[in-house]
Amino acid sequence: MKGKRILIANRGEIASRIIRTIKKLEHVAIVIRSNRDKNALYLEYADEIIDANENDEDKVIFLDADRIIELALKHRVEMIHPGYGFLSENYEFAKKCNEAGIIFIGPLPEHIFQMGLKTVAKEYARKAGLPLVPGTEDVVRDVKKALKIAKKIGFPVLLKASAGGGGRGMRIVEKAEHFERLFNSASQEAFNAFGNGDLFIEKYINNPKHIEVQVLGDKHGNVIHLWDRECSLQRKHQKLLEEAPSPALSKKMRNSVCKMAVKLAQHIGYYSTGTVEFIMDEKRNIYFMEMNTRLQVEHPVTEEITGIDLVEWQIRIALDEKLPFKQKDIALNGTAIECRINAENAQNRFSPETGFIEKVRFPYHPRLRVETSIKDGTYVSTNFDSMLVKLIVHEKHRNTAIQSMLKILNESRISGIKTLIPFFKTVLQHPEFQKGTYTTRWIEQYFTPEMLINSDEETIAALTATIAYAMEYLPIAGEKPDIQQDNLNLWVLNKRLR
Ligand code: ADP
Ligand code: ADP
Ligand code: MG
Repeated sequence: MKGKRILIANRGEIASRIIRTIKKLEHVAIVIRSNRDKNALYLEYADEIIDANENDEDKVIFLDADRIIELALKHRVEMIHPGYGFLSENYEFAKKCNEAGIIFIGPLPEHIFQMGLKTVAKEYARKAGLPLVPGTEDVVRDVKKALKIAKKIGFPVLLKASAGGGGRGMRIVEKAEHFERLFNSASQEAFNAFGNGDLFIEKYINNPKHIEVQVLGDKHGNVIHLWDRECSLQRKHQKLLEEAPSPALSKKMRNSVCKMAVKLAQHIGYYSTGTVEFIMDEKRNIYFMEMNTRLQVEHPVTEEITGIDLVEWQIRIALDEKLPFKQKDIALNGTAIECRINAENAQNRFSPETGFIEKVRFPYHPRLRVETSIKDGTYVSTNFDSMLVKLIVHEKHRNTAIQSMLKILNESRISGIKTLIPFFKTVLQHPEFQKGTYTTRWIEQYFTPEMLINSDEETIAALTATIAYAMEYLPIAGEKPDIQQDNLNLWVLNKRLR
């Protein structure tokens, strides 16, 4: 089947990524141009562009389900890919697409709905025989009752929004005294973000690892897994770096967790791509956490180790194709690492950076995959999320992957605004990361901005500043600069600059 008119209801790097596969399959890639993002890179790759012409007071087009469907019908669109974020987990949007006769590239709207409520998802997971994090399976609306339950579970507990996502609506409560205040603020945040303030309570797992399993199902009842990923490097419950497979799992544990994910997907009759997320405690117990019914940001690391194009199978499955591979055909080759290069300043509590990007440069490296939404001159605003680039490296061994990524980060340049490049250099050189023992609390336990000082960019900045200093002041004093460019005492320079 070729020549389907496929609209991507998304922007940024994921739009570019999806276009690549649409073209490979010889379909037609159609994208939407938002007024808030007029010169975006993905627009250059599309076959057709639809102008959204939103006004400033209108909601951003990628969140406007009705308007997207209206535009799609006008442009004879046959299928819609939602990407991630925006409307990708909005079951009403999926339903409306299907009702309008447009194929939604994703699972059944019912599955999006059910798994979108974490409490409902937990119930299904329990029925499918998966272990759950100790806590309530239902929402708790009364704060007094909630406190009683929390005391029973034992502090610290984690308050979670049932409709939550992207780390929002979550609060760790260390002590009973803080419970009521944090309960109210989590509920409010969830209500503002998701229109649903319902919370449930889980035991807060200390020093956990986030491990997830990619599943793929077709409409003919076949479900397979594509192994695991580890996404423990997080800030505020949001992922920053991911790798596949997890360095923390033994072969036996890997098989067991992957089987659990398939069991859940089979139990609900799931099709398309999905991710079953688990949390692992210090005793290496693994519990079900939630299921994401979409393509994940970190899907490339799975594609690298298995050689399977997940977007291709999302499209083929949506067109009723049967999976041609069996579980035993799915290879697990080497290790892949992804760094999410956000426009953030790790030096200053990861504050968001805005402004023009002057120059973007990535090195040539045979094992590097770049997924990006930026080019020279792109303006980074706060209208959209801060992820500019995903750098993905795939090597036979994890150590080599770490070394390759470090080399790539050293040779990558994004000038004009600050990014997380120096931060990832620090992470990749840290013993906890290198040993694979890092947890979701790595940043709070180990990271300090001073660790960034010795990164290459800082060194270059130090060099430049000192040379400028030497040229400017020393000759005036009638002395010859006695600093040889390649013979500077960096320790002294760094100290002086601090
Ligand atoms: P992933 O789960 O794919 O690894 P994230 O958890 O960071 O990645 O979420 C991917 C994107 O989707 C982010 O831009 C995030 O803000 C957004 N997102 C996640 N869940 C929701 C939701 N329920 N509603 C709206 N946006 C969401
Ligand atoms: P979201 O929909 O925002 O992705 P998740 O349930 O996947 O919500 O949780 C996001 C992150 O929060 C996890 O990756 C993990 O780091 C942390 N987390 C979730 N549940 C717990 C828990 N019970 N104990 C400790 N950390 C947790
Ligand atoms: Mg999650």
